Amino acid sequence: MVFAHDTEVSLQAAVTLANSALAPDTLRTIEDLDAFYREYEYTGRRDHSSAELDAVRSMRPRLRELLTASRERAVEIVNEMLSDAQAVPQLVRHGQWDWHVHAVDPGSPLPSRLCVETAMAMIDVIRTDEMSRLGVCADDDCDGVVLDLSRNRSRRFCSTTCGNRNAVAAYRARQSAS
Ligand SMILES: [Zn+2]
Ligand SMILES: [Zn+2]
Repeated sequence: MVFAHDTEVSLQAAVTLANSALAPDTLRTIEDLDAFYREYEYTGRRDHSSAELDAVRSMRPRLRELLTASRERAVEIVNEMLSDAQAVPQLVRHGQWDWHVHAVDPGSPLPSRLCVETAMAMIDVIRTDEMSRLGVCADDDCDGVVLDLSRNRSRRFCSTTCGNRNAVAAYRARQSAS
């Protein structure tokens, strides 16, 4: 494990959210948001409204900017996100989750909690000087954000789809060269 468990889950969720904006958009309905919420085991307020969905959708460019920023720029965005939400970090324990940090009330709107959770996770990334764990997909035609939590820092593609496509292309290139 590179970071604490809750940090890794928050980063993964943020990357999924940012990448959902790539064509074809995979966060278009309230059901899509339900699936995301379940996948990352969120708790707390859900409005199930189109306003909530729109707010989550519209925060994706900012997440993407943060996840692919330089360390200096990431610091600015994180500080801005935390002060915008008037975040107050508190250690909490609930359900299966051991002590971890919540920095906004579980009753505050989902978009604001997603923002703050990502900012809190990015604090760990910035403090440990691990921004190189984040990058853009090595596929020429893909702008997906890549989160590399592997021990040997070997992850280059945003998804198995991109990884497989490039493995096939490399194989074909070897075949035609021989
Ligand atoms: Zn929690
Ligand atoms: Zn990709």
